Amino acid sequence: MSQTPQGKPVPELTDLTRPFWTAAKQGKLVMQKCSQCGTLDFLPKPWCIECGHLDLEWVEVKPLGTVYSHSTARTVMMNYPAWKNDLPFVMCIIELDDGPRMYGQLTGCPPEKVRIGMRVEAWFEAVSAEAAVAKFRPV
Ligand SMILES: [Zn+2]
Repeated sequence: MSQTPQGKPVPELTDLTRPFWTAAKQGKLVMQKCSQCGTLDFLPKPWCIECGHLDLEWVEVKPLGTVYSHSTARTVMMNYPAWKNDLPFVMCIIELDDGPRMYGQLTGCPPEKVRIGMRVEAWFEAVSAEAAVAKFRPV
């Protein structure tokens, strides 16, 4: 498996997920929106999670939200020393101002300072020539 400049695995870009990764590389957070019911969803799928409609379009969402849930990693099980160098790191579920929730790493905040409801913004770490990973930091 190829690695990012940070020594972590490169995300797999598929026809389904490529729009998310390439938009992130351009500093934009995008998600699929259902043309039938308007539902926004973080995890790319061929159908709407609410109504099953197949007509989804990629739209930009505001890169702002609040911490919905969080967990601190103090050990890593995978064989990627680069992640060990980041320990401890905080993973969150972020509730975006536009509605959907998404996973992301929280940076710039020690684990003991993370609070449910804390305001965060997305930032984008380039991991390859065409992809970046969305992470969050306090605002
Ligand atoms: Zn729908």
